[in-house]
Amino acid sequence: MGANLTAMYTSNLELSTLVVAEPGASYSSGTTSSQWIEVLVDCPGAQGIYTYRLPEHLICQPGDILSVPFGAALVGAIAMRVVEQPPADLAAEKIRDVEEVVSEGFFPTAYWELLVRVAAYYYTPLMQVIRVALPPGLLGRSQQRIRISKEIQPGVDAFLSPTAREILALLQTQSDRNYSKVYIQRQIRGAQRGLRELLRASLVESYLEPPRLTRPKLQKAVTLVGTGFERDVTPRQREVLEVLRRRGSDLWLSELLQICSTSTSTLKALEQKGYIVIQEREVLRKEQSTPQGDGGLGGDRPKSLTEAQSQAVNTITQINEFATILLHGVTGSGKTEVYLQAISPLLQQGKSALVLVPEIGLTPQLTDRFRARFGSKVCVYHSALSDGERYDTWRQMLTGEPQVVIGTRSAVFAPLPNLGLIVLDEEHDGSFKQDSPIPTYHARKVAQWRAELENCPLVLGSATPSLESWVNVVDLESLTKDEGRRTKDNTHYLSLPERIQSRPLPPIEVVDMRQELQQGNRSIFSRSLRDALQQLQEREQQGILFIHRRGHSTFVSCRSCGCVLECPHCDVSLSYHHTEANAPELLRCHYCNFVRSHPKNCPECSSPYLKFFGSGTQRVTEELAKQFPQLRCIRFDSDTTRTKGSHRTLLTRFANYEADLLVGTQMLTKGLDLPQVTLVGVVAADGLLNLPDYRAAERAFQTLTQVAGRAGRGDDPGRVIVQTYTPEHQVIQAVQQHEYESFTTSELQQREALNYPPYGRLILLRLSSLDATSVEQTASFLTTQLSNNAAGFDILGPAPANILRVANRYRWQIMLKIPPNVQPELPDWNFVRSLIPASVSLTIDVDPLHLM
Ligand code: ADP
Ligand code: ZN
Ligand code: ZN
Repeated sequence: MGANLTAMYTSNLELSTLVVAEPGASYSSGTTSSQWIEVLVDCPGAQGIYTYRLPEHLICQPGDILSVPFGAALVGAIAMRVVEQPPADLAAEKIRDVEEVVSEGFFPTAYWELLVRVAAYYYTPLMQVIRVALPPGLLGRSQQRIRISKEIQPGVDAFLSPTAREILALLQTQSDRNYSKVYIQRQIRGAQRGLRELLRASLVESYLEPPRLTRPKLQKAVTLVGTGFERDVTPRQREVLEVLRRRGSDLWLSELLQICSTSTSTLKALEQKGYIVIQEREVLRKEQSTPQGDGGLGGDRPKSLTEAQSQAVNTITQINEFATILLHGVTGSGKTEVYLQAISPLLQQGKSALVLVPEIGLTPQLTDRFRARFGSKVCVYHSALSDGERYDTWRQMLTGEPQVVIGTRSAVFAPLPNLGLIVLDEEHDGSFKQDSPIPTYHARKVAQWRAELENCPLVLGSATPSLESWVNVVDLESLTKDEGRRTKDNTHYLSLPERIQSRPLPPIEVVDMRQELQQGNRSIFSRSLRDALQQLQEREQQGILFIHRRGHSTFVSCRSCGCVLECPHCDVSLSYHHTEANAPELLRCHYCNFVRSHPKNCPECSSPYLKFFGSGTQRVTEELAKQFPQLRCIRFDSDTTRTKGSHRTLLTRFANYEADLLVGTQMLTKGLDLPQVTLVGVVAADGLLNLPDYRAAERAFQTLTQVAGRAGRGDDPGRVIVQTYTPEHQVIQAVQQHEYESFTTSELQQREALNYPPYGRLILLRLSSLDATSVEQTASFLTTQLSNNAAGFDILGPAPANILRVANRYRWQIMLKIPPNVQPELPDWNFVRSLIPASVSLTIDVDPLHLM
């Protein structure tokens, strides 16, 4: 029975180039000019991309939902792209016809183009990209149904088998003469044969019901319908009508009952008298609205803009084609207001906007501001939503109503038709990159493609733009020649150089912890920070204490001179390894696997105080409790914010003065706007500076600038204290001087010299396995294969990952470094995959951000 399957062709889009007609090849040999279409089939047991013929009477666009014959069944499929030629290795007459177009325009047309680009760039099968992009089970449950196709003439059934007759009789009992195939098969034994008979005789037809995945959630709503003066109502009933009228004639039943403290019977009576209608209506399961009240319409008014803001808004709103706009605004310069006012006119034009943020839980404030301004036009979309919520948000988006979708990286695939603007807030943030599973996409890159395909502007907002974006937008030559800043084609640079209300950026005090040690202070708090913490309560102000969350292994530095032990080959710090009590202490490079033993003394100054680093949140909170028992602290890190909504709860408690100090990790850097915070302390900047990663300096600059930017956003001026063993470090200097541009320029020079991004490209092969030996062997075997079979790039490694074993899997990696302007001969990834034993898994991470 599976013979029909061979009539379909699985195309591998990753490798396929379109088949072009040979010169002189004739099209006229067939009937007329046929069209073929590649469709996505995604149902249990069958998943993939297949080619079908498009019968002439059917018109279909990419994004339509189709029904297609698959084996003996009809299944749902999504039209992906029309092709002029059938696949070369498949005879045209073997390709089966599309049965029907079930529903049109399920996705924007350019959408598939986007998914195909992602698949190609990230060396990922298209199916995997689709899994990331679409909510689960989108096609899985389309239902095959059987209906009587025409009037059954008396006597026709005389020629039918008993089973076929039985099926026909069953169908005729139903008023719309229509049953699901599954139901028929359950009712009648051996129905399959009978059905085939009926189909052949064209007495019944089989069709596919459009996907109805999760049942829409229904809720009772009350609507005011009666007009005129009510004479026949009781005072109680009149009150209900009055409430309804005041509230715009329409309320959920439960809400109305609560507001009027009345009972259902009162409402029933009103319905009988014809004043109201009670009916079930669909509720969209959007994420819970804010406790401050959604109000439905958005009560917040646009603020009157500063000069710089209004220039930014004007520029953005005047562009209505593809362009990349870098919005470089210092912390507290009011970037959010720019987004809001750039989006508002779009909504009026009937367009939608997509706003991507690093982590939704961390940015309740941004979501609140959007809700306050645009009310129910705001949708929140992220991977933590339940399937039902995701599905509803999807349907809401597909309605085409103008709206704002706020979401994390995967929301870059939100299928909004009529997109007018894409915003990436905090565009430098690492969480826009997916490390695993594949596709290892970066939302900024995908957003760029999407904006291109939709021909709309892309706004990248940040106080500390990534080097990638800086290089993409700013013409660096214009900077070095001192000609004033120029931008590249199709790009704009917008600057908000000052805080709102001309508030100053907080002064940054750098404390040299080497001197603290010399002067006998062995505590993790410098005297300066200790005083500042002390004063916090006296002055009834609040503070934030930032701790860098270290990995399991750490770098080694000298507490006397600040020197950090680095790899002689890679320009990254070495990591300390000590696995067992008797094993030698080793320092290892995680790029090239250079190893040396842990020296007893500092190679620079011979001091014996050579220490590996790291002080976690826990240690700091313990120390705080010991030294400042009266200080009320809230811990804000991945341990305390695990549950849904806990970010908001903790921040609300802090905003309500239930604590003096917020102690936490990276999470504190993201978008907090708390006007009462005057002090920001960084316990040890060194943990950030010396990560074994070529991006360490950039990331440290971003993190320190962002965390410092939390201070002094209100009326009271702010103060920042940064503790470090290397106060002369270039990053520390740049942060202290608020020197983005010169820091970036010199950092870019280093990257260029070593062919690191944004100049060269990296591809990281991550291997992992439960078996330590096989992963290591595979890594070295693969490295040999790569160097023999490909060219145009350097191979670094293989090296064990910084944290060798995670969740019982041993991890090794190989890095491919492609110099700028080189078209490398990359290996055939399918061949590479075929070299990997089943016990080892391989992830190809294109443009990796996290190398450890
Ligand atoms: P950023 O994201 O640039 O750090 P925010 O968007 O959080 O800054 O804005 C900082 C603060 O300034 C917010 O409380 C915001 O409401 C306020 N703000 C922004 N624009 C204006 C304006 N034009 N007038 C008054 N206040 C503003
Ligand atoms: Zn030293
Ligand atoms: Zn090295």
